[in-house]
Amino acid sequence: MPYEAVIGLEVHAQLKTQTKIFCGCSAAFGAPPNTHVCPVCLGMPGSLPVLNRRVVDFALRMALATGCRIARTSRFARKNYFYPDLPKGYQISQYELPIAEHGAVDITVDGKSRRIGITRIHMEEDAGKLTHDPDRPVSRVDLNRAGVPLLEIVSEPDLRTPEEAGAYLRKLRTILRYLDISDGNMEEGSFRCDANVSLRPRGQVELGTRTELKNINSFRFVEKALHYEIQRQREILEDGGRVIQETRLWDDAHNRTYVMRGKEEAHDYRYFPDPDLLPLVIDEAWIETVRQSLPELPDPRRRRYVEDFGLPDYDAEVLTSARELADYFEACVGAGAAAKPAANWIMGSLLGLLKAENRDFDQIPVPAPALAELLRLIDEGTISGKIAKTVFDEMAASGRTAAAIVAERGLVQISDAGQIGAVVDRILAANAGQVEAYRSGKTKIFGFFVGQVMRETRGKANPKVVNDLLREKLGAG
Ligand code: ADP
Ligand code: MG
Ligand code: ZN
Repeated sequence: MPYEAVIGLEVHAQLKTQTKIFCGCSAAFGAPPNTHVCPVCLGMPGSLPVLNRRVVDFALRMALATGCRIARTSRFARKNYFYPDLPKGYQISQYELPIAEHGAVDITVDGKSRRIGITRIHMEEDAGKLTHDPDRPVSRVDLNRAGVPLLEIVSEPDLRTPEEAGAYLRKLRTILRYLDISDGNMEEGSFRCDANVSLRPRGQVELGTRTELKNINSFRFVEKALHYEIQRQREILEDGGRVIQETRLWDDAHNRTYVMRGKEEAHDYRYFPDPDLLPLVIDEAWIETVRQSLPELPDPRRRRYVEDFGLPDYDAEVLTSARELADYFEACVGAGAAAKPAANWIMGSLLGLLKAENRDFDQIPVPAPALAELLRLIDEGTISGKIAKTVFDEMAASGRTAAAIVAERGLVQISDAGQIGAVVDRILAANAGQVEAYRSGKTKIFGFFVGQVMRETRGKANPKVVNDLLREKLGAG
Protein backbone atom coordinates (compact mmCIF):
# COMPACT_ATOMS: atom_id res chain seq x y z
CA MET A 1 0.00 0.00 0.00
CA PRO A 2 1.47 3.40 -0.91
CA TYR A 3 1.64 5.73 2.06
CA GLU A 4 1.70 9.48 2.19
CA ALA A 5 3.60 11.40 4.88
CA VAL A 6 1.86 14.20 6.79
CA ILE A 7 4.02 16.70 8.64
CA GLY A 8 3.20 19.62 10.92
CA LEU A 9 5.83 21.78 12.61
CA GLU A 10 5.87 23.66 15.89
CA VAL A 11 8.51 26.38 15.79
CA HIS A 12 9.81 28.37 18.73
CA ALA A 13 11.51 31.62 17.78
CA GLN A 14 13.33 33.62 20.44
CA LEU A 15 12.46 37.29 20.12
CA LYS A 16 15.18 39.95 19.98
CA THR A 17 13.79 42.23 22.65
CA GLN A 18 16.12 44.05 25.06
CA THR A 19 14.31 42.69 28.08
CA LYS A 20 12.37 39.59 29.09
CA ILE A 21 8.66 39.13 28.52
CA PHE A 22 7.37 39.70 32.08
CA CYS A 23 10.21 41.55 33.86
CA GLY A 24 12.91 44.12 33.15
CA CYS A 25 15.83 41.67 33.13
CA SER A 26 18.11 41.70 30.09
CA ALA A 27 17.25 39.07 27.50
CA ALA A 28 20.80 39.12 26.10
CA PHE A 29 22.49 35.81 25.37
CA GLY A 30 25.82 34.72 26.82
CA ALA A 31 26.03 36.45 30.23
CA PRO A 32 27.52 34.58 33.22
CA PRO A 33 24.92 32.16 34.66
CA ASN A 34 22.14 33.60 36.81
CA THR A 35 23.13 37.24 36.39
CA HIS A 36 20.04 38.23 34.37
CA VAL A 37 17.50 37.31 37.00
CA CYS A 38 15.06 38.98 39.40
CA PRO A 39 12.23 37.90 41.72
CA VAL A 40 9.77 37.70 38.80
CA CYS A 41 11.76 35.38 36.53
CA LEU A 42 13.02 33.41 39.53
CA GLY A 43 9.41 32.74 40.46
CA MET A 44 9.59 34.24 43.95
CA PRO A 45 6.25 34.16 45.77
CA GLY A 46 4.48 37.50 45.66
CA SER A 47 6.27 38.81 42.57
CA LEU A 48 4.04 39.91 39.70
CA PRO A 49 4.58 39.71 35.94
CA VAL A 50 4.10 42.76 33.68
CA LEU A 51 3.77 42.15 29.95
CA ASN A 52 6.51 43.66 27.75
CA ARG A 53 4.80 45.72 25.06
CA ARG A 54 7.60 45.09 22.53
CA VAL A 55 6.85 41.38 22.63
CA VAL A 56 3.31 42.11 21.50
CA ASP A 57 4.64 44.41 18.76
CA PHE A 58 6.89 41.62 17.53
CA ALA A 59 4.11 39.03 17.65
CA LEU A 60 1.90 41.41 15.66
CA ARG A 61 4.63 41.86 13.07
CA MET A 62 4.85 38.12 12.49
CA ALA A 63 1.06 37.72 12.57
CA LEU A 64 0.59 40.40 9.90
CA ALA A 65 3.47 39.11 7.78
CA THR A 66 1.85 35.66 7.66
CA GLY A 67 -1.68 36.90 7.04
CA CYS A 68 -3.06 35.75 10.39
CA ARG A 69 -6.31 36.88 11.92
CA ILE A 70 -5.42 38.88 15.04
CA ALA A 71 -7.44 38.38 18.21
CA ARG A 72 -8.70 41.67 19.63
CA THR A 73 -8.60 39.96 23.02
CA SER A 74 -6.19 37.22 23.89
CA ARG A 75 -4.96 35.89 27.18
CA PHE A 76 -2.10 34.22 28.97
CA ALA A 77 -2.42 30.83 30.62
CA ARG A 78 -0.37 28.77 33.00
CA LYS A 79 0.99 25.53 31.61
CA ASN A 80 1.77 23.50 34.69
CA TYR A 81 4.57 20.96 34.90
CA PHE A 82 7.58 20.30 37.08
CA TYR A 83 11.12 20.56 35.79
CA PRO A 84 14.23 22.04 37.44
CA ASP A 85 14.60 24.71 34.73
CA LEU A 86 11.11 26.08 35.46
CA PRO A 87 11.22 27.97 38.75
CA LYS A 88 7.51 28.80 39.00
CA GLY A 89 6.34 25.25 38.32
CA TYR A 90 4.43 26.60 35.35
CA GLN A 91 5.23 28.30 32.07
CA ILE A 92 3.24 31.38 31.09
CA SER A 93 1.97 30.75 27.58
CA GLN A 94 -1.12 31.36 25.51
CA TYR A 95 -3.56 28.51 25.13
CA GLU A 96 -7.24 28.96 24.41
CA LEU A 97 -6.97 32.52 23.12
CA PRO A 98 -3.71 32.99 21.18
CA ILE A 99 -2.88 36.37 19.70
CA ALA A 100 -3.09 35.16 16.09
CA GLU A 101 -4.61 32.32 14.04
CA HIS A 102 -5.32 31.20 10.47
CA GLY A 103 -2.32 32.47 8.53
CA ALA A 104 -0.18 30.94 5.79
CA VAL A 105 3.23 31.02 4.15
CA ASP A 106 4.10 30.02 0.60
CA ILE A 107 6.98 27.69 -0.11
CA THR A 108 8.59 26.56 -3.36
CA VAL A 109 10.14 23.11 -3.71
CA ASP A 110 11.45 21.88 -7.07
CA GLY A 111 9.78 24.81 -8.79
CA LYS A 112 6.41 23.87 -7.31
CA SER A 113 4.68 26.43 -5.11
CA ARG A 114 2.54 25.38 -2.13
CA ARG A 115 0.68 27.28 0.57
CA ILE A 116 1.22 26.00 4.11
CA GLY A 117 -1.38 26.94 6.69
CA ILE A 118 -0.40 28.47 10.02
CA THR A 119 -2.73 27.29 12.73
CA ARG A 120 -1.70 29.76 15.37
CA ILE A 121 1.01 32.07 16.66
CA HIS A 122 1.29 32.71 20.35
CA MET A 123 3.62 34.33 22.86
CA GLU A 124 5.23 32.52 25.75
CA GLU A 125 8.23 32.60 28.05
CA ASP A 126 11.31 30.42 27.69
CA ALA A 127 12.54 28.15 30.48
CA GLY A 128 16.03 28.15 32.00
CA LYS A 129 18.90 26.03 30.78
CA LEU A 130 20.27 22.87 32.35
CA THR A 131 23.81 21.68 31.81
CA HIS A 132 24.86 18.22 32.82
CA ASP A 133 28.38 17.47 33.99
CA PRO A 134 29.77 14.68 31.81
CA ASP A 135 32.05 13.36 34.57
CA ARG A 136 30.01 13.67 37.73
CA PRO A 137 26.33 13.21 38.58
CA VAL A 138 25.86 16.98 38.70
CA SER A 139 23.50 19.27 36.80
CA ARG A 140 23.55 23.03 36.83
CA VAL A 141 20.69 25.44 36.34
CA ASP A 142 21.09 28.80 34.58
CA LEU A 143 17.96 30.95 34.74
CA ASN A 144 19.17 33.77 32.47
CA ARG A 145 16.97 32.37 29.74
CA ALA A 146 13.92 31.95 32.00
CA GLY A 147 11.41 34.57 30.87
CA VAL A 148 13.04 35.32 27.53
CA PRO A 149 10.19 35.88 25.03
CA LEU A 150 9.31 33.24 22.45
CA LEU A 151 6.89 33.10 19.58
CA GLU A 152 5.43 29.68 19.00
CA ILE A 153 4.34 29.22 15.40
CA VAL A 154 2.27 26.09 14.74
CA SER A 155 1.67 24.88 11.20
CA GLU A 156 -1.28 22.96 9.86
CA PRO A 157 -0.41 19.36 8.93
CA ASP A 158 0.01 20.58 5.34
CA LEU A 159 3.58 19.50 4.65
CA ARG A 160 4.10 16.28 2.70
CA THR A 161 7.85 15.74 2.43
CA PRO A 162 10.96 16.43 4.52
CA GLU A 163 12.10 18.83 1.77
CA GLU A 164 8.88 20.83 2.13
CA ALA A 165 9.41 20.92 5.90
CA GLY A 166 12.92 22.31 5.32
CA ALA A 167 11.65 24.91 2.85
CA TYR A 168 8.90 25.96 5.25
CA LEU A 169 11.38 26.41 8.10
CA ARG A 170 13.75 28.43 5.94
CA LYS A 171 10.86 30.61 4.84
CA LEU A 172 9.77 31.26 8.42
CA ARG A 173 13.33 32.15 9.35
CA THR A 174 13.67 34.50 6.39
CA ILE A 175 10.46 36.29 7.38
CA LEU A 176 11.51 36.57 11.04
CA ARG A 177 14.83 38.06 9.94
CA TYR A 178 13.21 40.49 7.50
CA LEU A 179 11.01 41.63 10.36
CA ASP A 180 14.13 41.93 12.53
CA ILE A 181 12.41 40.18 15.42
CA SER A 182 14.52 37.02 15.79
CA ASP A 183 18.03 35.82 14.92
CA GLY A 184 16.52 32.60 13.64
CA ASN A 185 19.66 30.69 14.50
CA MET A 186 18.91 27.00 14.90
CA GLU A 187 22.39 25.98 16.02
CA GLU A 188 22.37 28.60 18.80
CA GLY A 189 18.85 27.69 19.85
CA SER A 190 17.09 30.96 18.99
CA PHE A 191 15.01 29.02 16.45
CA ARG A 192 13.79 25.57 17.49
CA CYS A 193 11.53 23.07 15.87
CA ASP A 194 9.45 20.07 16.91
CA ALA A 195 8.37 17.99 13.94
CA ASN A 196 5.13 15.99 14.03
CA VAL A 197 4.85 13.26 11.44
CA SER A 198 2.42 10.50 10.55
CA LEU A 199 1.67 8.30 7.57
CA ARG A 200 -1.66 7.49 5.97
CA PRO A 201 -2.67 5.41 2.99
CA ARG A 202 -2.66 7.68 -0.05
CA GLY A 203 -6.15 9.00 -0.67
CA GLN A 204 -7.28 8.67 2.95
CA VAL A 205 -8.48 11.95 4.50
CA GLU A 206 -8.21 10.97 8.14
CA LEU A 207 -4.79 11.56 9.71
CA GLY A 208 -2.68 8.67 10.95
CA THR A 209 -1.12 8.40 14.40
CA ARG A 210 1.79 10.82 14.72
CA THR A 211 5.04 10.92 16.54
CA GLU A 212 6.66 14.14 17.66
CA LEU A 213 10.39 14.60 17.04
CA LYS A 214 12.42 16.80 19.33
CA ASN A 215 16.07 17.77 19.68
CA ILE A 216 16.45 18.82 16.08
CA ASN A 217 19.01 21.60 16.12
CA SER A 218 20.02 22.24 12.56
CA PHE A 219 18.21 22.63 9.25
CA ARG A 220 19.97 19.56 7.92
CA PHE A 221 18.77 17.42 10.83
CA VAL A 222 15.12 18.33 10.25
CA GLU A 223 15.10 16.62 6.88
CA LYS A 224 17.28 13.73 8.04
CA ALA A 225 15.14 13.08 11.11
CA LEU A 226 11.92 13.18 9.09
CA HIS A 227 13.30 10.81 6.42
CA TYR A 228 14.32 8.38 9.13
CA GLU A 229 11.00 8.60 10.94
CA ILE A 230 8.91 8.21 7.79
CA GLN A 231 10.85 5.07 6.92
CA ARG A 232 10.49 3.72 10.46
CA GLN A 233 6.72 4.26 10.46
CA ARG A 234 6.38 2.79 6.97
CA GLU A 235 8.10 -0.41 8.06
CA ILE A 236 5.79 -0.71 11.07
CA LEU A 237 2.67 -0.21 8.94
CA GLU A 238 3.83 -2.55 6.20
CA ASP A 239 4.40 -5.23 8.82
CA GLY A 240 0.77 -4.76 9.89
CA GLY A 241 1.74 -2.98 13.12
CA ARG A 242 0.50 0.27 14.66
CA VAL A 243 2.46 3.45 15.23
CA ILE A 244 2.45 4.52 18.88
CA GLN A 245 1.82 8.19 19.60
CA GLU A 246 4.95 9.31 21.39
CA THR A 247 7.68 11.89 21.63
CA ARG A 248 10.97 10.80 20.10
CA LEU A 249 14.42 12.37 20.15
CA TRP A 250 16.63 12.74 17.11
CA ASP A 251 20.08 11.29 17.72
CA ASP A 252 22.41 12.73 15.13
CA ALA A 253 25.40 10.66 16.17
CA HIS A 254 23.53 7.49 15.24
CA ASN A 255 21.18 8.88 12.60
CA ARG A 256 18.04 7.65 14.28
CA THR A 257 15.18 8.64 16.55
CA TYR A 258 14.43 6.96 19.87
CA VAL A 259 11.57 7.12 22.35
CA MET A 260 11.74 9.88 24.90
CA ARG A 261 8.30 9.59 26.46
CA GLY A 262 4.68 8.91 25.72
CA LYS A 263 3.06 11.93 24.12
CA GLU A 264 1.49 14.19 26.73
CA GLU A 265 -2.03 15.50 26.23
CA ALA A 266 -3.06 19.10 26.75
CA HIS A 267 -5.12 18.16 29.83
CA ASP A 268 -1.97 16.82 31.48
CA TYR A 269 -0.82 20.42 31.84
CA ARG A 270 -3.88 21.67 33.75
CA TYR A 271 -3.94 24.87 31.73
CA PHE A 272 -5.81 27.78 33.31
CA PRO A 273 -5.83 31.54 32.72
CA ASP A 274 -3.04 33.30 34.59
CA PRO A 275 -4.82 35.38 37.27
CA ASP A 276 -1.81 37.73 37.52
CA LEU A 277 -2.14 38.97 33.93
CA LEU A 278 -5.00 40.93 32.46
CA PRO A 279 -6.50 39.90 29.13
CA LEU A 280 -4.49 41.47 26.32
CA VAL A 281 -6.65 43.88 24.33
CA ILE A 282 -5.35 45.06 20.96
CA ASP A 283 -7.12 47.84 19.13
CA GLU A 284 -7.19 48.63 15.42
CA ALA A 285 -4.83 51.61 15.87
CA TRP A 286 -2.11 49.42 17.36
CA ILE A 287 -2.42 46.91 14.53
CA GLU A 288 -2.33 49.74 11.98
CA THR A 289 0.82 51.23 13.50
CA VAL A 290 2.57 47.88 13.27
CA ARG A 291 1.30 47.32 9.74
CA GLN A 292 2.78 50.68 8.65
CA SER A 293 6.15 49.70 10.09
CA LEU A 294 6.46 46.43 8.14
CA PRO A 295 9.26 46.20 5.57
CA GLU A 296 8.70 44.85 2.09
CA LEU A 297 8.50 41.07 2.62
CA PRO A 298 10.47 38.39 0.74
CA ASP A 299 7.65 37.21 -1.56
CA PRO A 300 6.62 40.60 -2.95
CA ARG A 301 10.25 41.58 -3.18
CA ARG A 302 11.05 38.44 -5.19
CA ARG A 303 8.17 39.13 -7.58
CA ARG A 304 9.35 42.69 -8.00
CA TYR A 305 12.86 41.48 -8.92
CA VAL A 306 11.39 39.35 -11.69
CA GLU A 307 9.07 42.05 -12.98
CA ASP A 308 11.15 45.21 -12.58
CA PHE A 309 14.69 43.88 -13.01
CA GLY A 310 13.85 41.05 -15.40
CA LEU A 311 15.75 38.55 -13.26
CA PRO A 312 15.13 34.80 -13.51
CA ASP A 313 13.03 33.32 -10.67
CA TYR A 314 16.04 31.54 -9.27
CA ASP A 315 18.13 34.72 -8.99
CA ALA A 316 15.25 36.60 -7.42
CA GLU A 317 14.79 33.82 -4.88
CA VAL A 318 18.47 33.75 -3.89
CA LEU A 319 18.84 37.53 -3.69
CA THR A 320 15.73 38.00 -1.55
CA SER A 321 16.52 35.09 0.77
CA ALA A 322 18.07 37.59 3.18
CA ARG A 323 17.14 41.21 3.60
CA GLU A 324 20.76 42.42 3.75
CA LEU A 325 21.57 40.62 0.52
CA ALA A 326 18.59 42.12 -1.26
CA ASP A 327 19.46 45.57 0.08
CA TYR A 328 23.01 45.07 -1.20
CA PHE A 329 21.80 44.07 -4.64
CA GLU A 330 19.56 47.12 -4.86
CA ALA A 331 22.40 49.37 -3.71
CA CYS A 332 24.57 48.00 -6.55
CA VAL A 333 21.85 48.70 -9.07
CA GLY A 334 21.31 52.11 -7.49
CA ALA A 335 25.02 52.83 -8.05
CA GLY A 336 24.64 52.16 -11.74
CA ALA A 337 25.18 48.41 -12.16
CA ALA A 338 23.00 46.47 -14.59
CA ALA A 339 20.74 44.02 -12.74
CA LYS A 340 21.77 40.70 -14.25
CA PRO A 341 25.58 41.16 -14.04
CA ALA A 342 25.14 42.44 -10.48
CA ALA A 343 23.06 39.37 -9.63
CA ASN A 344 25.66 37.07 -11.18
CA TRP A 345 28.52 38.61 -9.23
CA ILE A 346 26.61 38.60 -5.97
CA MET A 347 25.43 35.01 -6.33
CA GLY A 348 28.82 33.81 -7.56
CA SER A 349 31.87 35.60 -6.24
CA LEU A 350 30.32 37.43 -3.32
CA LEU A 351 28.34 34.53 -1.81
CA GLY A 352 31.33 32.26 -2.43
CA LEU A 353 33.54 34.65 -0.51
CA LEU A 354 31.08 35.01 2.39
CA LYS A 355 30.84 31.24 2.62
CA ALA A 356 34.59 30.71 2.46
CA GLU A 357 35.22 33.28 5.18
CA ASN A 358 32.16 32.24 7.18
CA ARG A 359 30.78 35.76 7.18
CA ASP A 360 27.20 36.89 7.72
CA PHE A 361 25.28 39.06 5.29
CA ASP A 362 25.88 42.08 7.49
CA GLN A 363 29.63 41.68 7.02
CA ILE A 364 29.96 42.05 3.27
CA PRO A 365 33.57 43.20 2.74
CA VAL A 366 33.01 44.99 -0.60
CA PRO A 367 30.69 48.02 -0.45
CA ALA A 368 27.90 47.95 -3.06
CA PRO A 369 29.15 51.06 -4.96
CA ALA A 370 32.61 49.46 -5.18
CA LEU A 371 31.16 46.34 -6.81
CA ALA A 372 29.18 48.57 -9.17
CA GLU A 373 32.44 50.28 -10.17
CA LEU A 374 34.09 46.93 -10.87
CA LEU A 375 31.16 45.96 -13.09
CA ARG A 376 31.52 49.24 -14.95
CA LEU A 377 35.20 48.53 -15.66
CA ILE A 378 34.20 45.16 -17.13
CA ASP A 379 31.36 46.66 -19.10
CA GLU A 380 33.59 49.37 -20.59
CA GLY A 381 36.16 46.77 -21.59
CA THR A 382 38.84 48.21 -19.31
CA ILE A 383 39.38 44.83 -17.67
CA SER A 384 38.42 41.33 -18.70
CA GLY A 385 35.94 39.25 -16.72
CA LYS A 386 38.75 36.92 -15.74
CA ILE A 387 40.97 39.69 -14.38
CA ALA A 388 37.92 41.10 -12.62
CA LYS A 389 37.78 37.98 -10.42
CA THR A 390 41.30 38.68 -9.21
CA VAL A 391 40.50 42.35 -8.69
CA PHE A 392 37.38 41.43 -6.73
CA ASP A 393 39.33 39.15 -4.39
CA GLU A 394 41.85 41.91 -3.80
CA MET A 395 39.12 44.46 -3.17
CA ALA A 396 37.66 42.16 -0.52
CA ALA A 397 41.04 41.54 1.08
CA SER A 398 42.37 45.11 1.04
CA GLY A 399 39.26 47.29 0.96
CA ARG A 400 40.73 49.24 -1.98
CA THR A 401 38.75 50.26 -5.05
CA ALA A 402 38.79 48.39 -8.35
CA ALA A 403 40.18 51.39 -10.24
CA ALA A 404 43.09 51.76 -7.82
CA ILE A 405 43.97 48.07 -8.02
CA VAL A 406 43.73 47.99 -11.81
CA ALA A 407 45.90 51.09 -12.21
CA GLU A 408 48.53 50.03 -9.72
CA ARG A 409 48.92 46.49 -11.02
CA GLY A 410 48.64 47.41 -14.70
CA LEU A 411 45.69 45.11 -15.27
CA VAL A 412 44.05 47.16 -17.99
CA GLN A 413 42.77 44.90 -20.72
CA ILE A 414 44.69 44.86 -24.00
CA SER A 415 42.33 45.22 -26.94
CA ASP A 416 44.82 46.62 -29.45
CA ALA A 417 44.87 44.23 -32.44
CA GLY A 418 48.46 45.13 -33.34
CA GLN A 419 49.76 44.34 -29.87
CA ILE A 420 47.80 41.09 -29.54
CA GLY A 421 48.59 40.15 -33.13
CA ALA A 422 52.30 40.26 -32.36
CA VAL A 423 51.82 37.87 -29.46
CA VAL A 424 49.69 35.56 -31.59
CA ASP A 425 52.39 35.46 -34.26
CA ARG A 426 54.98 34.57 -31.69
CA ILE A 427 52.85 31.76 -30.21
CA LEU A 428 52.08 30.29 -33.62
CA ALA A 429 55.76 30.37 -34.62
CA ALA A 430 56.81 28.63 -31.41
CA ASN A 431 54.21 25.88 -31.77
CA ALA A 432 54.54 24.85 -35.38
CA GLY A 433 53.56 21.25 -34.59
CA GLN A 434 50.25 22.24 -33.04
CA VAL A 435 49.54 24.67 -35.89
CA GLU A 436 50.06 21.80 -38.32
CA ALA A 437 47.72 19.57 -36.30
CA TYR A 438 45.07 22.25 -36.15
CA ARG A 439 45.18 22.94 -39.85
CA SER A 440 44.89 19.23 -40.61
CA GLY A 441 41.57 19.14 -38.76
CA LYS A 442 42.36 18.81 -35.05
CA THR A 443 40.39 21.99 -34.31
CA LYS A 444 39.79 21.00 -30.69
CA ILE A 445 43.23 22.41 -29.82
CA PHE A 446 42.03 25.94 -30.55
CA GLY A 447 41.74 26.48 -26.80
CA PHE A 448 45.42 25.65 -26.41
CA PHE A 449 46.37 28.69 -28.49
CA VAL A 450 43.98 30.92 -26.59
CA GLY A 451 45.52 29.71 -23.34
CA GLN A 452 49.03 30.45 -24.59
CA VAL A 453 48.13 34.00 -25.61
CA MET A 454 46.42 34.61 -22.30
CA ARG A 455 49.44 33.31 -20.45
CA GLU A 456 51.75 35.54 -22.41
CA THR A 457 49.59 38.60 -21.70
CA ARG A 458 48.98 37.57 -18.08
CA GLY A 459 45.25 37.30 -18.72
CA LYS A 460 44.94 40.88 -19.92
CA ALA A 461 44.23 40.24 -23.60
CA ASN A 462 40.67 40.91 -24.67
CA PRO A 463 39.35 37.37 -25.31
CA LYS A 464 37.23 38.38 -28.26
CA VAL A 465 40.16 39.99 -30.05
CA VAL A 466 42.34 36.96 -29.27
CA ASN A 467 39.75 34.60 -30.71
CA ASP A 468 39.25 36.68 -33.86
CA LEU A 469 42.96 37.02 -34.54
CA LEU A 470 43.72 33.36 -33.91
CA ARG A 471 40.94 32.28 -36.25
CA GLU A 472 42.20 34.64 -38.88
CA LYS A 473 45.85 33.62 -38.61
CA LEU A 474 45.26 29.90 -38.24
CA GLY A 475 42.93 29.76 -41.19
CA ALA A 476 39.67 27.86 -41.33
CA GLY A 477 41.18 24.66 -39.89
P1 ADP B 1 0.81 19.42 20.63
O1 ADP B 1 1.95 18.75 19.90
O2 ADP B 1 1.32 20.42 21.62
O3 ADP B 1 -0.17 18.44 21.16
P2 ADP B 1 -1.03 20.12 18.44
O4 ADP B 1 -2.00 19.04 18.69
O5 ADP B 1 -1.58 21.48 18.19
O6 ADP B 1 0.05 20.34 19.60
O7 ADP B 1 -0.20 19.70 17.16
C1 ADP B 1 1.06 20.17 16.94
C2 ADP B 1 1.49 19.95 15.50
O8 ADP B 1 1.25 18.62 15.08
C3 ADP B 1 0.80 20.85 14.50
O9 ADP B 1 1.80 21.40 13.67
C4 ADP B 1 -0.07 19.91 13.70
O10 ADP B 1 -0.19 20.34 12.38
C5 ADP B 1 0.68 18.62 13.79
N1 ADP B 1 -0.15 17.43 13.71
C6 ADP B 1 -1.27 17.16 14.40
N2 ADP B 1 -1.74 15.93 14.10
C7 ADP B 1 -0.87 15.40 13.20
C8 ADP B 1 -0.80 14.16 12.49
N3 ADP B 1 -1.69 13.21 12.68
N4 ADP B 1 0.24 13.98 11.65
C9 ADP B 1 1.17 14.94 11.47
N5 ADP B 1 1.15 16.11 12.10
C10 ADP B 1 0.14 16.36 12.95
MG1 MG C 1 3.84 19.37 20.27
ZN1 ZN D 1 13.68 38.98 35.74
